[in-house]
Amino acid sequence: MTDKVKFKRAAVIGVGLIGSSLARALRERGLVDEIVGVDRDADVIARAQKLGVIDSGETDLAKGVKGADLIVISTPVGAIGAVAAELGEAAEDGALIIDVGSVKGVAVEAAKAMPERVHFVPCHPVAGTEQSGPEAGFASLFRDRWCILTPAPREDEVYKSAVEKAAALWTAVGARPEIMDAGHHDLALAVTSHLPHLIAFTLVGAADDVESVAQGEVVKYSAGGFRDFTRIAASDPIMWRDVFLTNKDAVLEVLGRFSEELAVMQRAIRWGDGKALEDAFTRVRGLRKAIVEAGQESAAPNFGRDDKGQH
Ligand code: NAP
Repeated sequence: MTDKVKFKRAAVIGVGLIGSSLARALRERGLVDEIVGVDRDADVIARAQKLGVIDSGETDLAKGVKGADLIVISTPVGAIGAVAAELGEAAEDGALIIDVGSVKGVAVEAAKAMPERVHFVPCHPVAGTEQSGPEAGFASLFRDRWCILTPAPREDEVYKSAVEKAAALWTAVGARPEIMDAGHHDLALAVTSHLPHLIAFTLVGAADDVESVAQGEVVKYSAGGFRDFTRIAASDPIMWRDVFLTNKDAVLEVLGRFSEELAVMQRAIRWGDGKALEDAFTRVRGLRKAIVEAGQESAAPNFGRDDKGQH
């Protein structure tokens, strides 16, 4: 498997949490001889180089991808279209291009517009944290996590083998690749990731308004549940702005369903309908059990934190 995915030169565009994690994992597994970091921010490049994540860096994309047989687009989703368009000109013939964006419709559109001499396979590693920047990355981030591949509609054998190569790359860094239609991906992730983030951003924002009245009590008693929402709400504002702008239809669809369910809860509370509340809460507990059984979460109480709140 490793033979299949050995690269000479990888160019990582956007050396943040995900880009630097993949760079670390590629290096740790010996999958690449040389890594070039490409970022619009020279300071990010300098920091990544100091950390030993990349061998060299470039702020100019065309120069950075010269000679690269693997190109990773790990910018916020809103930049993928423009970056891919530039790569259509600048990437070497036969280069494998992958992205890591959280919304896939936009990446597949960009992949469709690429010339056939390069092979863009849209990918989404379902792994991350609320932190950003090269310091936040770590090589084991993708271990035992799903990575969803949403290939472009290209039937030629060269592209098919590029998809296989991308899947092998994710396997080699410890992830479990799965092929999916981009529309299906965007709807599924709207439910499992985008809506929860929207709720967390909104809830923490509302509590922040209340905090001026509560005089410190929101922070003081945050372990009552609020704290867990603040972790999600601490996520990168640019990344999440782009997710909602590019996955608008799917998010609005699941948000509509959520609002209806919320109205049902509101009604049950108003009318003192204890049975409706108990039934609803009992039904959703089972889902938590299924997530733990699928190995996607720890079964330990309080998310496995010790008494100081550390993992
Ligand atoms: P991040 O830590 O903020 O890193 C993104 C980097 O890309 C930043 O250094 C940013 O520079 C740079 N950048 C932005 N536009 C660029 C451009 N046009 N050319 C070159 N560099 C550019 O973000 P991240 O969390 O790694 O997220 C990267 C991608 O991974 C996003 O598409 C996101 O949807 C996806 N993803 C994230 C997670 C997660 O949990 N965070 C999980 C799975 C997938 P500036 O700071 O100057 O803008």
